[in-house]
Amino acid sequence: MKVEVMPEVCQGHGRCQERCPEVFGTDAIEGKCMILMPEVPPELEHKARLAVKNCPEGALVISSD
Ligand code: SF4
Repeated sequence: MKVEVMPEVCQGHGRCQERCPEVFGTDAIEGKCMILMPEVPPELEHKARLAVKNCPEGALVISSD
């Protein structure tokens, strides 16, 4: 599973990082989401999906290849 962020949509709440800090971080300059692990390993998929689902802006996108 792959995950991406749309930076123009992200508002920097950091909720994704709270839910899954292995995959989502925060950009130190703009305070927006930074993907730390674009290729999410199977053991983190559930946590990463929850983070994507809980992004209030819909700024995160999953692709399954
Ligand atoms: S929860 Fe969504 S809007 Fe908030 S920092 Fe993460 S990607 Fe950005």
